[in-house]
Amino acid sequence: MSIQKVGVVGAGTMGNGIAQVCAVAGLQVAMIDISGAAVTDGLATIESSLERLVRKDKLSAADRAAALARVSGNTDYAALKGAGLIIEAATENPGIKLRILRQIDEAAEDDAIIATNTSSISITLLAAVLKQPERFIGMHFFNPVPMMALLEVIRGLQTSDETHAKTLAFAQTIGKTAITARNSPGFAVNRILVPMINEAIFTLQEGLATADDIDTGMRLGCNHPIGPLALADLIGLDTLLAVMQVFYEGFNDPKYRPAPLLREMVAAGRLGRKSGRGFHSYA
Ligand code: NAD
Repeated sequence: MSIQKVGVVGAGTMGNGIAQVCAVAGLQVAMIDISGAAVTDGLATIESSLERLVRKDKLSAADRAAALARVSGNTDYAALKGAGLIIEAATENPGIKLRILRQIDEAAEDDAIIATNTSSISITLLAAVLKQPERFIGMHFFNPVPMMALLEVIRGLQTSDETHAKTLAFAQTIGKTAITARNSPGFAVNRILVPMINEAIFTLQEGLATADDIDTGMRLGCNHPIGPLALADLIGLDTLLAVMQVFYEGFNDPKYRPAPLLREMVAAGRLGRKSGRGFHSYA
């Protein structure tokens, strides 16, 4: 049976982006949040994002109206009734996610696939609280969801081949290119990206090159669209430190040691763009 309706739990940055992409692809969407204000904000973000697409001639006014009409906002999990796929995209905290997954499990149809957009929590661990852990999978979207082409699909130890195949088919329905990774800290993309950024910070710390030269080097020498230190500022240095810490502890391997300069910057409150200063200045 193909998926006609999607539930999205969490109406924040990622949740409303996922809801938008599903609605534009012609699916009914129930977007849920614990906070009524977050639901209202999430719906408003979808509306203005679709409006922008219309202004850029990427969507017709009629398609915008139809997509908006397909999204409902709720604080009640009963809205998940009839959803063939439910994607959890709430706050990155294991306790919160485990609680939400139990609530989803109660409200979901027996044959629904349940997915999480977590970027760092074990898919295998989250699956273990569900009645049918074989129906659980990681769907790691990238920010901003409507712009980014990739969907990283993560199989937990319990994920069935059927759940995996249906998830790949769904990625195609919503116009994303999927790659598959096995459950492991950072999955595949962040496992490569974040240690590279950490290495760029070591390179700066050791005085091998200036921040500008490191970024220019990686842009012009490796064709990256943005240098690693500028990307660090965009992601947030506190977030990067937390991810490196997960690798360091998760693998028990000193090769994932966070750069001391990264710790130092976070301790100083230089978190990147969001604080106005990181490896570059954003005054
Ligand atoms: P966010 O803070 O923008 O939104 C989280 C939302 O979850 C909030 O609206 C909050 O009210 C809601 N929430 C909290 N507890 C809830 C509950 N019990 N029930 C329902 N809703 C609840 O966060 P975000 O950036 O959208 O991140 C969401 C998830 O996506 C996280 O797991 C994060 O790791 C992952 N992720 C984020 C990014 C990113 O760049 N922001 C990229 C990939 C994956």
